[in-house]
Amino acid sequence: MDSSLDGDLEGVYMELNVLTLCYLIGSVTFIIGLKMLSNPATARKGNLIAAAGMIIAILGTIFLYRDDEGRKLHNYGWISGGIVIGAIIGTWAAKKVKMTAMPEMVSLFNGMGGACAMLISIVEFDHLYQANKALDSTWFSDIVPAGHYLTIAAGLIIGGVSFAGSVIAWGKLSGRVRDFSFKGQHLFNLFLLGLVLTTAVFAYQSNVKGANIPFYITALLALLYGVFFVMPIGGADMPVVISILNSFTGVAAACGGFLYDNKVMLTGGILVGAAGTLLTILMCKAMNRSLGNVLIGSFGAAKPGATTGTRQQGAYKEITLSDTAIVMSYAQKVMIVPGYGLAVAQAQHACHDLEKLLESKGVIVKYAIHPVAGRMPGHMNVLLAEADVSYDKLLEMEEANEEFPTTDVVLILGANDVVNPAAKTDPSSPIYGMPILDVELAKNTIVNKRSMKPGYAGIENELFFQPKTSMLFGDAKKVLQDLIAEIKNV
Ligand code: NDP
Repeated sequence: MDSSLDGDLEGVYMELNVLTLCYLIGSVTFIIGLKMLSNPATARKGNLIAAAGMIIAILGTIFLYRDDEGRKLHNYGWISGGIVIGAIIGTWAAKKVKMTAMPEMVSLFNGMGGACAMLISIVEFDHLYQANKALDSTWFSDIVPAGHYLTIAAGLIIGGVSFAGSVIAWGKLSGRVRDFSFKGQHLFNLFLLGLVLTTAVFAYQSNVKGANIPFYITALLALLYGVFFVMPIGGADMPVVISILNSFTGVAAACGGFLYDNKVMLTGGILVGAAGTLLTILMCKAMNRSLGNVLIGSFGAAKPGATTGTRQQGAYKEITLSDTAIVMSYAQKVMIVPGYGLAVAQAQHACHDLEKLLESKGVIVKYAIHPVAGRMPGHMNVLLAEADVSYDKLLEMEEANEEFPTTDVVLILGANDVVNPAAKTDPSSPIYGMPILDVELAKNTIVNKRSMKPGYAGIENELFFQPKTSMLFGDAKKVLQDLIAEIKNV
């Protein structure tokens, strides 16, 4: 080997070592970032650290990656075009999105991850297909190892389900898509899943020339399964499905990491998949649902006889602002229950002001956080952290339920399903079995919302008609601002 070749090889090895280092930095920053995301105080920095690691890994891949034959990437025009367009759309969407529409956007972004994994599988399949389609008397399984095809098919199916499911979840969260189910949907879903797997196996067992048709049918069926998987999931059960779609995207991305033997993609995929799975387990626990139900789909829809919509339960009583101000000023302990309406009203800062004012009058103020309050996991924690509410004032559901009997006033701000006693008392209710905040154990409950309309699950709330409950109607921000002014006069 001549010395100039030696020099070239040394340069190539050096580049590959730098690439490995980039991937290592990427992987480590993902782990550190994820850890920091678990605390509101460090979450923002954690996000930036993980993003920086991602940029290093992407730049490393673009400039240093070589394929098995030692070739570098060459189509820089397409790559940079894609990055620029993606960055412009992403930045514009993130800047334009209202805080209340964040859950929808997160769902859509999750779907994009699934779509990418699906496209990677399609591209890789197509490479194999184009390279071998002339061999018409050869079986696809004779030229592609089973493990390699399994990774391609898993990325295709899981990514496809995640993409289609996330788009439907986005539609449901934004109110554009309604729950839809039909008799026998469980069986239909199982049949569809069986069909997806069968066509995927059939593609592998086909003659090379004809393998593409069953492969693309698998892709279409996976998308269809994603739609039917999420379509029937009703009312209050969306958090579980959102977190499971999250884990699907992670697993699908990890398949891409396996395909390209790309360590950072594998680490990122595994982290997202594992975090999504843990979140799914937590959400199942919070909703008191089994994972089996989630996987088959079609749970959570209202059962016949469920108390839905506008059935009148009797009379409710209203409370004035000045009475609310008096009751709260003379309370020893006040528990605030935030819900989706607080996010809609963007009343988190006013809520924090109320907390500080009450504390200056010697009232103990705490927050009761239901795990599925709002429209995305951790929604209330993020919302209150934005207003600098101290993290140790936030009680998890179990802790809060222990404290309600010693609470003088519960102030519910735009929460509904998470305090609905039907979850405990009405077996026909779509939220039956979901643990709720037992606010009725407190001495007084004041509910702030704009009307008697139901919450996300679309069911009436018996709490509003109970003797210890008073309704304080109005937009949460306006009500809180007026309440603060009243309390200052007490
Ligand atoms: P709900 O959706 O049950 O209720 C929110 C209430 O807020 C409504 O009844 C509404 O009543 C009121 N509201 C809306 N805007 C305002 C406003 N500007 N001022 C005052 N009140 C307002 O919310 P919860 O947080 O109690 O429950 C969350 C629900 O969302 C659960 O069913 C959960 O399963 C579901 N979900 C949760 C997800 C998650 O990951 N956390 C994801 C998807 C769904 P009105 O119109 O009368 O004002």
